[in-house]
Amino acid sequence: MADPARLPVVVACNLEPDDRVTGIDGRSPWVGVGTLLDVVEQWRADAPDLCLTWLWRCDPAIAKGFGDAGWALRRWRSQILDAAARGDDVGIHPHIWRWSEPLKTFVADQANDAWKAECVRVSAEAFARETAIEPRTVQMGDGYMDPAILRALVDAGITLDLTLEPGGPAKERMVHTELTTGALPDRRRTPRHPFRPGWSDACRPQRRHAPMWALPITTSTVPLVIDGVVVDPAGTAANLGLDPHRFRHVVTTGLAASVAAGAPYVNAQLRSDVGADARLGEFTLQNLEWLRTGMRGLADPWGGTELVTGPTALARLGYVT
Ligand SMILES: [Zn+2]
Repeated sequence: MADPARLPVVVACNLEPDDRVTGIDGRSPWVGVGTLLDVVEQWRADAPDLCLTWLWRCDPAIAKGFGDAGWALRRWRSQILDAAARGDDVGIHPHIWRWSEPLKTFVADQANDAWKAECVRVSAEAFARETAIEPRTVQMGDGYMDPAILRALVDAGITLDLTLEPGGPAKERMVHTELTTGALPDRRRTPRHPFRPGWSDACRPQRRHAPMWALPITTSTVPLVIDGVVVDPAGTAANLGLDPHRFRHVVTTGLAASVAAGAPYVNAQLRSDVGADARLGEFTLQNLEWLRTGMRGLADPWGGTELVTGPTALARLGYVT
């Protein structure tokens, strides 16, 4: 029986192609997804309390690259249904990549409100069609959130967002070589507690807000500096693919800030490509085990940790969904 006093920990797994930018010939690999699902399945035998959140790519870029937005959902449908049946949360992870014929590559089309809404709508519809489950939880790709996407999420019936990375500065692109039409929003004032995102600023609470909760990701509050080198700036997200030393710095400082904000929780994430890289896969399992087993004493004030879904975390923190 769950102990409501334990520190709620949400782990969102984004299931997507191994490469951030895929081709359109249907041959881009999804090796990480298959491996990750297998490893977690085996691991569950020793950790029956494992509760995870599985968020799937089924957006227009998947349709362009693989012939159908629901390609991965069909490929792994039984695993999705099994996860939902045992109490894991399942939902969508839309990116806003748009294929550019002249450039012959995908572009993150942040400047195009109609396209962003289309990416959300296509994802939600594909998920409902292929799984017969209406998605309620989302994590947008690359931490991107704005009023146009917020409106589309609400229209699609989403009630919980796991996207926001408090402390994240505005920046043009995630990776230097990638193409964008806008910029990631400034999230330096995003709170470290659950809130209802504002209609005119989706990264902050406002009086006029959406009928949806945002559970911000745990991010670091101070840079990690080793040997005079800034290894991770403040605002780095708790990504389980990080080296465990770096991951623990993010979670330790981020949790302290959430406690100060009156909402003790951890919200961490991983990208499925960790399953395609032995070293990142090992980091991920070490970090997951550390979260699951009380973070080596860090969660002692709460009597340990408990892996839960996002909606359960909100309920534990006293927010009504
Ligand atoms: Zn992604």
